[in-house]
Amino acid sequence: MPRDHAAECRAWNADHDHQVMAGNASFMAFSARMRAVNGNGQLFPQQAAKYVTPDAIGLMGHRLPLALQTIIHTAWSHGVGWGVEHWLIPPGATPPPPDGSLFADGLSHHDWRDFASGWLVCDGCWLAAICPLCQLDWVDHPLLSRLLQALCTHHQGGA
Ligand SMILES: [Zn+2]
Ligand SMILES: [Zn+2]
Repeated sequence: MPRDHAAECRAWNADHDHQVMAGNASFMAFSARMRAVNGNGQLFPQQAAKYVTPDAIGLMGHRLPLALQTIIHTAWSHGVGWGVEHWLIPPGATPPPPDGSLFADGLSHHDWRDFASGWLVCDGCWLAAICPLCQLDWVDHPLLSRLLQALCTHHQGGA
């Protein structure tokens, strides 16, 4: 039986294309995971959201609160590829006072909604905030002290 050279070529090419695609995908997954662990922004956020689970998102090896990991992961899956620093106020800076306080400044344009207990997310821009009345230990927490603050629905109600 004569060998079907054309068929062999097609099979080899298909196999080759498949390997190249698989290689690209695994490199993309590797790159997305490295960026997530280090807290870097994502070049292909929606791909990253597929390759990386929320609990893999860190900041130079430091663990993040799960609520913040989930918020970042959700932003990625919506095509917003910011790195973790985007959500953090620079070290040493004081978070602005929460919405609703006498000293509230220009932050009220955020459209905060409750995300998890003590956590809020802005519907417009994906920024996260903690409710300082829910998370009383935020002052001593290296990461919570670097997040925006807003009052959760419960505490806005004057409870
Ligand atoms: Zn906003
Ligand atoms: Zn609260």
